[in-house]
Amino acid sequence: MRYKKSPLHEQPFRGFSPLNNSEPEKKKSRSIKYLNRRIISCKLCQLCETRTNAVPGSGNIEDPSVVFVGEGPGRNEDLKGEPFVGSGGKLLDELLKNAGLDRKRVYITNIVKCRPPKNRKPKPDEIQTCTSTYLEKQIEILKPKLICSLGATALQYFTGEKKMGSNHGKLLKALKSDIPVLATYHPASVFRNRSLKNLLQSDLIKIRDLTGQKEALHSSK
Ligand code: SF4
Repeated sequence: MRYKKSPLHEQPFRGFSPLNNSEPEKKKSRSIKYLNRRIISCKLCQLCETRTNAVPGSGNIEDPSVVFVGEGPGRNEDLKGEPFVGSGGKLLDELLKNAGLDRKRVYITNIVKCRPPKNRKPKPDEIQTCTSTYLEKQIEILKPKLICSLGATALQYFTGEKKMGSNHGKLLKALKSDIPVLATYHPASVFRNRSLKNLLQSDLIKIRDLTGQKEALHSSK
């Protein structure tokens, strides 16, 4: 099967910039909603054939302090059309709360928006198509202070680095952006290795400190 390019896909990518944060909130919201509609009906790669629902992302659109980016939707996410709603999502919620990070103030999405069959890793061409069409534009619109990559696939996509052990918890330079990247483990990996839970928790606390979210939460009480 040949996958058709959409008009959106043909638009040149302008790179994501953290500098201009003056875009009116309504325009940001409209842009994200437009992108979401495109994602939901997207047939640009073979993952459209096996998905139940595409999963664009969810969270704060107006002014997210952090955009969290995982690898791709799992079974529960595919069924519900929402990111991080399965056991990994519940664990992420718990660890965000422990760190004093408010999920309502961050945005959560994935490298690919459709579930790869049997949760296999997304293929390079799927990553290239989906990120150049959607993720890059999401970040360009959302303009977060920080990107948090969850897991090895997102780490490699944003920074080119492959080793999580020596890179997690550090501020890394992104390949295509001025927005810093903090890499940490994917919540699902904690179910395979419980010792990663403390590392993930401490990385989320670093994110809280870097983005000043705890202070913001306290001052809003
Ligand atoms: S993974 Fe991305 S590019 Fe592929 S069909 Fe889904 S939304 Fe489109």
